[in-house]
Amino acid sequence: MGTRPILPYDCDPAMLEPSYDPPLSSCALCGSAQLSEHDWDLRGNHIHRCRDCRVQFMNPQYSDAHLAEFYANYGWKDGEMCAAPKKGLPGSREMSKQRAFGLILKHASPGRLLTIGSGDGLELSVARGLGFRVEGYDIDPKIGAAIAERVQAPVHSGKFTEVPFDDASFDVVYMDQVLEHLKRPAEYLQNCHRILRSDGLLYLGQPNIGSISNRTKTLLGRLGLKGKRRGKHYASRHHIFYYSPAVLCRLLRRQYGFDILVVRGSLKPQANPVTPLLSRWFPNLDSGFLVLARKRKSSAMIAVEPNRLAGAQGAEAVG
Ligand SMILES: [Zn+2]
Repeated sequence: MGTRPILPYDCDPAMLEPSYDPPLSSCALCGSAQLSEHDWDLRGNHIHRCRDCRVQFMNPQYSDAHLAEFYANYGWKDGEMCAAPKKGLPGSREMSKQRAFGLILKHASPGRLLTIGSGDGLELSVARGLGFRVEGYDIDPKIGAAIAERVQAPVHSGKFTEVPFDDASFDVVYMDQVLEHLKRPAEYLQNCHRILRSDGLLYLGQPNIGSISNRTKTLLGRLGLKGKRRGKHYASRHHIFYYSPAVLCRLLRRQYGFDILVVRGSLKPQANPVTPLLSRWFPNLDSGFLVLARKRKSSAMIAVEPNRLAGAQGAEAVG
């Protein structure tokens, strides 16, 4: 264990040999047992699809031990936090965070805000600059402490469902590029619902498996035309669940007690100005999307207990 290499952001996936759980027999988002084989990728990971809620996911999934080791090194090198990966246009990360919190402020006043998976702390700094009272969360205590020191804000760590947040105590919960990494997304969505006040806002940003580009890659892979790059777009080194706007919005509405305020392509500045413009109305033109959802007033959420609800179908939220 102690001799495993430290992973930079863009490491060679072969550096860390994964271990796996037994395969899931029911959907971790809606509880349905109606699963089907959908695809496989260059790493030999199998991609399954729920025939009820239509979410796609790796199956079998990485073990908790593998993920703990992987994320203990995520964004770290030689005991120091790495600079964020330089992707996209200069300043695009900060710009996209500014735009995200600007969008939130169109629907709410600045209040108590929690960011989940707080990365290098940039989003906490940006949100605080716009007047939010910010707190962060990162599963790894070392990373959480480093972020807290860097941005001088409270950052919680440990198992998310065990952090002692009070019910209805946050105005906004923000998760950008996090949901696709989570092995137990239902636990996170349920807990976000619990800690948000009535009418509180949930912001979710993630890759779009339903984008035209990703659908084309899936099709070409299944036709055997992608060679050794088959399924690279699943990014299964660290992405476990694969959402489209339609699938995620339906789950949030039916299963998790939220109403959808905004669904659109990502807010990241792009060299091509046409995609961001059109993906505002047609999110599947972009490879990423966001959802801004509001906790339903008086919503009684359906309690999903994934893997124990084999056969449960079509559950609808009450209220
Ligand atoms: Zn499902």
